[in-house]
Amino acid sequence: MFNFSINPIDLELLTQLHDRYKNCRSGTVASYIPELAKMNPDAFSICIATVDGEMLSVGDDRQLFTIQSISKVFTYGMALEDRGRDMLLSKVGVEPTGDLFNSIIRLDENSKRPDNPMVNAGAIATTNLIQGDTTTDGLGPTATDRLNRILNAFRAYAGRDLYVDSAVFMSERATGHRNRALAHLMRHFEMMDDRIDETLDLYFQQCALLVDCRDLALMAATLANNGINPRSGVRAIESEYVRDLLSVMYTCGMYNFAGEWAYQVGLPGKSGVSGGIIAVVPGKMGIAVFSPPLDVHGNSVRGVKVCEDLSNICKLHLFDRC
Ligand code: GLN
Repeated sequence: MFNFSINPIDLELLTQLHDRYKNCRSGTVASYIPELAKMNPDAFSICIATVDGEMLSVGDDRQLFTIQSISKVFTYGMALEDRGRDMLLSKVGVEPTGDLFNSIIRLDENSKRPDNPMVNAGAIATTNLIQGDTTTDGLGPTATDRLNRILNAFRAYAGRDLYVDSAVFMSERATGHRNRALAHLMRHFEMMDDRIDETLDLYFQQCALLVDCRDLALMAATLANNGINPRSGVRAIESEYVRDLLSVMYTCGMYNFAGEWAYQVGLPGKSGVSGGIIAVVPGKMGIAVFSPPLDVHGNSVRGVKVCEDLSNICKLHLFDRC
């Protein structure tokens, strides 16, 4: 039992929430990436990891799924570490959009920047800025160097090796014309360099990383713990950038539902089209929910409901006690 707040969070509460929503049949599983359509709509889990390294979980918490857009939070952190805040801000804005995650673009009229790093355009521009951990040939990082940079960073957050689901990667690579169009448009405005196909492959691979709900809770708890994985003690991101990630999650993480999410749940959050949602309670814990059926905004239906209930019952809203 965690006595963080007015109402304690325990396994019984998570089990009650799981029972409350397991028969909810609203929403549809994403199918625009053909491989994602194979996901089981009934898979459902809720996990909480604390900054003390404890874990509570119910449901299909070992079911693997691709991380999809939740990856955008963590690659934004990598790009910040590799390039610094000023460079990032010159290439990707931090304004919420009222548009869908894959909207065909609104580059800022003057700066030509995509709105923020949580929508596809901004995430692709962000991945473009990721360097390699090492350069193998003295000519700058290769695609492999950059992929290894991403894999190593995700390993630090999750506390274990994560692997790319090749079928989902290939499926999105073959059908992701919209993302290709976004990248080429950004190239036209010189918001991306010439490595368009390489960057798109990296972006599709980061989205196709396999995680389970426990991994996501621990990754969120790492952000709650100022960038240090609470179980391994390994730093996943420099502490000075954690606030940048949490800020863009808070304002932009749930796409065109971000305002209502901030109002109802009041926590930095991020969703992905495979049905994952993370929420961060700074200094306390990471919350993760997995359930594939999505609402019209592209957010997990059960995931949003569980986070709303958890926030209300346990008084987790950041402004609850102001
Ligand atoms: N890979 C997906 C895409 O680019 C991620 C979108 C999402 O999870 N919202 O379309």
